[in-house]
Amino acid sequence: MPARTGKQFLEGLRGPREIWVDGERVTDVVDHPLLGGAARGLAAVYDLHHAHPDVLLMPDEETGEPIPVSHMIPRSRADLAKRGAALRKVAEYSVGLMGRTPDYMNVTYAGFAGSRDAWAAQGNEAGAERLVAYQKFLRRNDISLTHTIVQPTVDKATGDAPGPGNPHALRKVEDTANGILVRGARVLATLAPFADELAVYPASPLPAGSDAYAVSFCIPMGTPGLKFLCRDSTSSRWNLFDHPLSSRFDEQDAFVIFDDVEVPRDRVFIDANLASYNSVMTTSWPPNVQQQTMIRASVKLDFAWGLALRMAASINAADPETMRMIGEIWTYAEFTRAAVVAAEAEATEWPGGLWTLNRSPLHALRATLPLWFPRVNEILKLIGSHNVFAAPTAAQLADKDLRPLIDRYLPGAKGMPAEERIRIFRLAWDFAGGALASRNEQYERFYLASSPRNLARHLAFTDRARADRLVDRFLKEPLD
Ligand SMILES: Cc1cc2nc3c(=O)[nH]c(=O)nc-3n(C[C@H](O)[C@H](O)[C@H](O)COP(=O)(O)OP(=O)(O)OC[C@H]3O[C@@H](n4cnc5c(N)ncnc54)[C@H](O)[C@@H]3O)c2cc1C
Repeated sequence: MPARTGKQFLEGLRGPREIWVDGERVTDVVDHPLLGGAARGLAAVYDLHHAHPDVLLMPDEETGEPIPVSHMIPRSRADLAKRGAALRKVAEYSVGLMGRTPDYMNVTYAGFAGSRDAWAAQGNEAGAERLVAYQKFLRRNDISLTHTIVQPTVDKATGDAPGPGNPHALRKVEDTANGILVRGARVLATLAPFADELAVYPASPLPAGSDAYAVSFCIPMGTPGLKFLCRDSTSSRWNLFDHPLSSRFDEQDAFVIFDDVEVPRDRVFIDANLASYNSVMTTSWPPNVQQQTMIRASVKLDFAWGLALRMAASINAADPETMRMIGEIWTYAEFTRAAVVAAEAEATEWPGGLWTLNRSPLHALRATLPLWFPRVNEILKLIGSHNVFAAPTAAQLADKDLRPLIDRYLPGAKGMPAEERIRIFRLAWDFAGGALASRNEQYERFYLASSPRNLARHLAFTDRARADRLVDRFLKEPLD
């Protein structure tokens, strides 16, 4: 099947699945008052591919059918540039507010398939074979994939990864006639209500003896025993004037319970193989997937800078402090843009022919953006002040008695019509202040591990020769 349309994507969501929102088991995601807006928003992402086939589609290397560029296994610098342009186009649609549009997992699985040898090592040849076959299925059916890679937190003192006998974490229970039976829980499947399938793959390494927890697989969302508990919705009712962002960009996050779930053999990529589980994520995965995450971040910061400028202009706030704060957002946007450019310039080829951006600038961003994004929201709220709440709704503007009064008392500076000013401040609150904004701040802090962990990890892959040489000059120079 070639790249799906939005209509086809929505039809795919109507299948059976166990999605819980509050106390309700949702039977129809597409028309649900708290989920339907984002379903529509994501359908628009699918349609975007058909509106911009030159940027977003490419022929499948075997069938020739048009498929999303995000499924590409980059084999050259030019491939990375093409994929980067496609990732940017998708990120611009939600101005980076949807972190887990399907391209995120498309990029992940293209990277896995492009690292076949890493998956085949440690005696996992059959698992790697099935993984490569799955990636073909994924791209040819234009599947929307959610994922869960983090173990549930019960007692932080026991460490990040489940030790032998842990009763909470996802694990293999037994072999079955057709595959394996798994039981346990994982966090936190963003996009779950809007996915066709769920992916499970490794994150933190597991300790010795935890072989049963060393599993990786993909299964349809409707697989019996699979339950998704969505967090409280941050979705607003569909009204693009009142809630231009939160009416369509709440991608949701769900706690996942595997209540004795059978995974068919052809979907098992790691089967209780600890050595494989602990090694497959340690090479090309971070820089591969972070091409998507950092281009998205760059788009979001450019948007925040533009929004801040528009807010200030609407009330003619040209004081030094406002300009300083806007300049601060600009520096974050510019550093992010520059880091992506540097990572592209220093792109590398991995054994097996996969190309990725250079990990270092992307990792530096990953460790720092969790500190920048909350500050960006703070700045937007400081510039916005009370104005974000002196912003009547579409219904109030539509009232024939209120409208002339709103036009008279709520214009912007320098002749800006009231409606334009109101739209700017409503957009600002939706982006930086409302419930969706609060969720997004939490997302930026944690979606690929917290800032402290990323900072602490940098020595695992960096080359310190340059820094050591500078220090050694003083430590080793003759003292006479
Ligand atoms: C909105 C959202 C969406 C998400 N989506 C997904 C998804 O789609 N799929 C998925 O698999 N996961 C997802 N996650 C989960 C995410 O991967 C984890 O939340 C993330 O890894 C952080 O987990 P943690 O609690 O172990 O964080 P920690 O790193 O433990 O951080 C929690 C706090 O503890 C502190 N801390 C404690 N111990 C340490 C330590 N040793 N080193 C450093 N800091 C420490 C940190 O400073 C931080 O404040 C999502 C999370 C959020 C919030």
